[in-house]
Amino acid sequence: MHEIGIVNGILKTVIDTAREAGASRVVSVKLRIGDMCEVVPESLDFVWEVFREDDPLTGESELEVEDVHPRSQCLACGEEFDHDRFHLRCPACGSPQTRLLQGRELDIVSMEVETDDDFQLGT
Ligand SMILES: [Zn+2]
Repeated sequence: MHEIGIVNGILKTVIDTAREAGASRVVSVKLRIGDMCEVVPESLDFVWEVFREDDPLTGESELEVEDVHPRSQCLACGEEFDHDRFHLRCPACGSPQTRLLQGRELDIVSMEVETDDDFQLGT
């Protein structure tokens, strides 16, 4: 279950960032995850709920996930197309030579923390 590694990496970044900001607790964390990462949402939620307990800062934090659907460009004809995890062939010319433009993201989009002054971090 590679969600464990993902969650631990994210929690580490979240906790470091929250600590630097002087947060007293993390309220929520928003992620953007590409379908090509093959993350199972149920597993991610489960692992999050287990590992967030490891630090009082994230003990009650909520996880929100935004899906990114894969999109590729054909190297033969230049066509850009949306696809799922399994269909990577160019729909215009049938070429299997394609370059992934998006769909492998694994980013923290924003996080909401509470401090004594109550401000929000994020982009
Ligand atoms: Zn093509």
